[in-house]
Amino acid sequence: MTQSTALFVNVGERTNVTGSARFRKLITEGDYAEAISVARQQVENGAQIIDVNMDEGLLDSVAAMTTFLRLIAGEPDVARVPIMIDSSKWEVIEAGLKNVQGKAIVNSISLKEGEAPFLEQAQACLSYGAAVVVMAFDETGQAETADRKVEICTRAYDILVNRVGFPPEDIIFDPNIFAVATGIEEHDDYAVAFIEATRRIRETLPGCHVSGGLSNISFSFRGNEPVRRAMHSVFLYHAIKAGMDMGIVNAGQLDIYDEIEPGLRELVEDVILNRRADATERLLEAAESYRDKGQAAKAAPDLSWRDEPVNKRLTHALVHGINTWIVEDTEEARQQVDRPLHVIEGPLMDGMNVVGDLFGEGKMFLPQVVKSARVMKQAVAHLIPFMEEEKASAGETRTSAGKVVLATVKGDVHDIGKNIVGVVMQCNGYDVVDLGVMVPSETILKTALDEQADIIGLSGLITPSLDEMVFVASEMQRQAIDIPLLIGGATTSPAHTAVKIDPVIDIAPVVHVLDASRAVGVASKLLGEQRATYAAEVKDDLRRIRERRLAARQSKARLSLDKAREKAWDDDWSDYVPPVPKQLGRQVFTPSVAELIPFIDWTPFFFTWELKGTYPAILDDPKRGEVARSLFADAKAMLQQMADENWLSPKAVCELWPANRVGDDAVVWQDEHRSRERARFFGLRQQMAKDNDRAHLSQFDFLAPEGTPDWLGGFAVTAGDNPEVIARFEAETDDYNGILFKALSDRLAEAAAEWLHQTVRRDVWGYAPEEAFTNLELIAEAYDGIRPAAGYPSQPDHSEKRTLFALLDAPHTAGISLTNSFAMTPASSVSGLYLSHPDSSYFAVGRILRDQVADYAARKGWTVEEAERALGPILDYVPSLAQSA
Ligand code: SAH
Repeated sequence: MTQSTALFVNVGERTNVTGSARFRKLITEGDYAEAISVARQQVENGAQIIDVNMDEGLLDSVAAMTTFLRLIAGEPDVARVPIMIDSSKWEVIEAGLKNVQGKAIVNSISLKEGEAPFLEQAQACLSYGAAVVVMAFDETGQAETADRKVEICTRAYDILVNRVGFPPEDIIFDPNIFAVATGIEEHDDYAVAFIEATRRIRETLPGCHVSGGLSNISFSFRGNEPVRRAMHSVFLYHAIKAGMDMGIVNAGQLDIYDEIEPGLRELVEDVILNRRADATERLLEAAESYRDKGQAAKAAPDLSWRDEPVNKRLTHALVHGINTWIVEDTEEARQQVDRPLHVIEGPLMDGMNVVGDLFGEGKMFLPQVVKSARVMKQAVAHLIPFMEEEKASAGETRTSAGKVVLATVKGDVHDIGKNIVGVVMQCNGYDVVDLGVMVPSETILKTALDEQADIIGLSGLITPSLDEMVFVASEMQRQAIDIPLLIGGATTSPAHTAVKIDPVIDIAPVVHVLDASRAVGVASKLLGEQRATYAAEVKDDLRRIRERRLAARQSKARLSLDKAREKAWDDDWSDYVPPVPKQLGRQVFTPSVAELIPFIDWTPFFFTWELKGTYPAILDDPKRGEVARSLFADAKAMLQQMADENWLSPKAVCELWPANRVGDDAVVWQDEHRSRERARFFGLRQQMAKDNDRAHLSQFDFLAPEGTPDWLGGFAVTAGDNPEVIARFEAETDDYNGILFKALSDRLAEAAAEWLHQTVRRDVWGYAPEEAFTNLELIAEAYDGIRPAAGYPSQPDHSEKRTLFALLDAPHTAGISLTNSFAMTPASSVSGLYLSHPDSSYFAVGRILRDQVADYAARKGWTVEEAERALGPILDYVPSLAQSA
């Protein structure tokens, strides 16, 4: 590089299971001999420190760290460099400190959890004589501006030097390198902030060092190695001049600053130093031409289609979802036609029609279609500026299949399904106005009118949204807005649409659309020539569903609440002793993404992508296996990135309380005297007639009655969220990765629930300390005890979450809050109760009678109308999960 790098300390990063697939494989397979040679190569290639990281969910990280460090201690050519012990788990760091030979560096500690743990960990490092990497994080989060970076580092320095007595030369600050050129304006200054902070830290905090992980900076150009290498070199060049004296650097990912092609260097420098407002745009534009041309792709895909005429290439790119050349191909096509619009109307729509047909014929699957849509959108994004330019003169506009206004209704935050529908409709030539989540009725209707929408689509995941949809429909009727209405989302059903929504609106057809893949077919019929006939058919279908429903309902026998209570599940509590918790009091955890990965249940993930089937069998499915495997590979690659680059910060809270069953409810006591009530969870009891004298269950039948000490647990977990990542994918018009990210976040939230439940059974409640189930056994709920969740079939009343969240103080302890419909935000969250009884089971309450609605209302302090509103749509129409759970 340049003269100044002489003083720069290079940290080798290949001995990192999260950063190197090869190293991970060697370690998980126990091939330590080869793993050591990775370390040796690092040193031979000039690493002056090697970073060792064993944070992989499937590994016993403590054991792996211990073994590896002991082994390299016996390798003179490796042991001559200091070891950086890298882990997000303190126990792994401690294991490293105990086993490392010579000087070690701990990577990392921070003020994230406040001063107390920081002090404690710093003292431990000091006692081992280790240096520390201190990240610029504090209780309120990561530092993004230069001022914040300097402020946090100064505070940490003060604590370390003046309170712990840390030698300043053993302090290495990492002021956070974040990605630039993401398309988001606030990110433009990230590199400058790092460089500026580095300068001030080195000036004002004597003795310390400044380090950083280099590869983050170029995140938006992943896949384009030449541009990444140039960005790394330019960044380092300036950061080193400012005083950065250490860095985690992959030597293979660096160019020599002076040898960077001058044109590229200037573009990159504009970005890194934030020298002009259009710097990102200019680099993006040029980036394609710098992409590795010589370097053959790994699997050497067949590129003969690149020799076809441009229109054929565009079709090929769309059908195969390949976006590598889309901008240059689109540009070439644009130059061949009079107007940019003709590229859209011509080759692009031709390609999308092929996609639509194949999808309709079941020859293409959702993940592929979403990838095709990404190609389409990126092509259109390239054309838009040209279309705007000519707008003044143009009379002609694009022919659209129709305009759709989509929204997740008020109170609800879930949007994967809606986003998928939006993408699929756009692929089929519809203009989509997506209003996002939590959208009030007024906004939806006003937008629909202003935009002259042809269709309104409502989405929602939780049951209170069903009511909100009824409200939107009734408002349409009242205001005489006769736009066809599409209804979709997890709890919606043909029955609810027929019984609750359709009757309140007769000026427009309402259609329940189960799968995103059906939305296009329905929309084209709603807007087609035969629209009147179709609307009449739809109304007719719904009427029939209503009648069938009513008949079925009348034929089903119910028991009165009194009778049902007589048939409650009644354990002989005299000879069963509920297990006494090992730990009472609130427990807060921050499991890492890597820790949660092994707990993922993949089946629902494929379901989200409309690849229905059980994992892992779906991967070998003759029809869908290929798509499933490719999706799965993308998912795993993104998960790895999520783990490595800390995209999410999962949080979990749980607590066990002394509690007893009182009637159908659970009383949580103030303390073990069990005399003063602290809170109450309400139960609903099954009233459907049953054969064989089977019990009429209520959730708390599995909790011991007063007189027998028992405990009830509560938990809330979240995968967290990351608006920055979402915004980045949006800026790249990359729905595929956007949806993938959200689907994976949901999976991680469920995985966190599974992980926490296991921790509770083993350690917190501790009634199954020896428990060791495989992931499949956990998914099959082979363990003792259950974690019933409010809003599910055994307690469909979402408002119970209010009590739970108050007891757990969930907004503060786990960072999860509730919307006015009791949806949890961040959306990727799970909450529920714990019951320990080995016979406890999930069930569906099913439809209840008015006597119970009244009784429940009285117990909750509600009016009967309020109870009806909360329970009515739920109890009548929610499909039962009981069998699947
Ligand atoms: N392994 C699946 C779990 C899906 S069910 C996944 O990863 O998606 C999710 C949760 O719903 C369960 O863990 C449980 O907390 C809750 N649940 C399922 N059926 C229920 C029922 N009948 N009553 C109450 N909660 C239920």
